[in-house]
Amino acid sequence: MIVTSHSDSVLSGRSERWRVWSLSDGYIEMAADLLRDPQNNPVPQAAQAGALRLSVNCFALAGPDVDGILIDSGGGGWAPTVGRLEQTMMEAGIDSASIAVLALTHTHQDHAQGLLTPDGRVLFPNLKAIIMGEGAMESFLAERHLARFRPLLKPVRNGDQVAERLRAVALPGHAPGHTGYAFDTNEDRFLFFGDIVHVPAVQFGDPALSWGYDDDQATARATRLKVFHDAAEAGTWIAGAHLGWPGIGHVMRKGEAYDYEPAAGY
Ligand SMILES: [Zn+2]
Repeated sequence: MIVTSHSDSVLSGRSERWRVWSLSDGYIEMAADLLRDPQNNPVPQAAQAGALRLSVNCFALAGPDVDGILIDSGGGGWAPTVGRLEQTMMEAGIDSASIAVLALTHTHQDHAQGLLTPDGRVLFPNLKAIIMGEGAMESFLAERHLARFRPLLKPVRNGDQVAERLRAVALPGHAPGHTGYAFDTNEDRFLFFGDIVHVPAVQFGDPALSWGYDDDQATARATRLKVFHDAAEAGTWIAGAHLGWPGIGHVMRKGEAYDYEPAAGY
């Protein structure tokens, strides 16, 4: 397996049979008081920081029996600081016309709006399926300007096989139907976990801290703790939409908390 950045530099790799690309869509700035303690109060140190800059990452997968799969599509024209996916895919040498399956972790603007480029073009002209947790369907169907994609929607439940080697993992709490995707190459295991972490600089060290836009903070917190625990035990690569570039790394147990080690070498 090889992990590469959009500029195709190798981040980590043992064999070249499998490849995961981290594709930056840009970034978003969010108010720092969205970081919340377990009583849903803003965290004082963070609130003083004013704004937080969150990476927006998408991921593409390829291998002998895996091709044309993209996880999340970025923000498209939602904000001026996102919508770079078309460019970063070109830099990575990935033709957007080769994408057949888009697996969405959820339907928030910074994940689903990238189906359309900032200037309104369809970015993936040969898309055959848009996978999402069944709980995310309603919010997608409410987006009228995405109506043309409705015939492609394929709702999944926890454990469903999405494609070769790719399985849906329900990760409840952040948004309706929030779903991760587990990718197993027999050499490495990945979990593309969407919005389990928004502020990597603090949430690995204090996983009890939540995000103001988590729909159900207690559930989101429990899910985050389970994901960290399981990924640390199994040595699973984690890949997050808002982890700092390159958005892929390992989580390790550190006392009562965790540490995060990004894929290095880029
Ligand atoms: Zn997000």
